[in-house]
Amino acid sequence: MENQNLLPIFIEKLITQLNKLPGIGSKTAQRLALSILKKPDGYIENLVDSLNKVSTDVRLCMECQNYCEDDLCLICQDEKRNPNSICVVEDILDLIAIENSGVFKGKYFVLHGLISPLNGVLPSNTKVDLLCKKLNAVSEPTELILSLNSTSDGDATCHYINESLKNDLISISRLASGLPFGSDLDYLDSRTLSQAIENRKSF
Ligand SMILES: [Zn+2]
Repeated sequence: MENQNLLPIFIEKLITQLNKLPGIGSKTAQRLALSILKKPDGYIENLVDSLNKVSTDVRLCMECQNYCEDDLCLICQDEKRNPNSICVVEDILDLIAIENSGVFKGKYFVLHGLISPLNGVLPSNTKVDLLCKKLNAVSEPTELILSLNSTSDGDATCHYINESLKNDLISISRLASGLPFGSDLDYLDSRTLSQAIENRKSF
């Protein structure tokens, strides 16, 4: 990094940590660190408090692996939502995108990653086996909606789930074709996403 020895070591350490975040290059990390220092009194204390809270008080929902503060997330606690319709997403950003589309009233399961044979990401590096175990124990007809990106990793994960399920009560569908290959669900507009969910196809 340029000018690395011009700043106090603690600022450099802050820059190094910010630089580890996705999409944050060294220049942006420098700008962020220096702008944090210029914030009014109380900002840094609030930031530190927030970081401590997410580190100690946020956990994964027992049912769906969404983030939560208790055993169950707010969606799993909501009794008005249909427990027999489960939308499988890669990460929390996809869950938020689908929630914002307003079209889905069931529950979710967050995989925290996709199986990626080419990159050495195995099922055990995600929550996919936990999902299959949960579904193989289901005792009521349940629809599984695979809302995974149209990428080779998304395809590999869908096929793995399909082959791992041994429960006739589960029907599997996938978001409508027509999503651009390699599309990131998070970047689709709400209308496109809700249409993709409504027009989902049996897998
Ligand atoms: Zn949950």
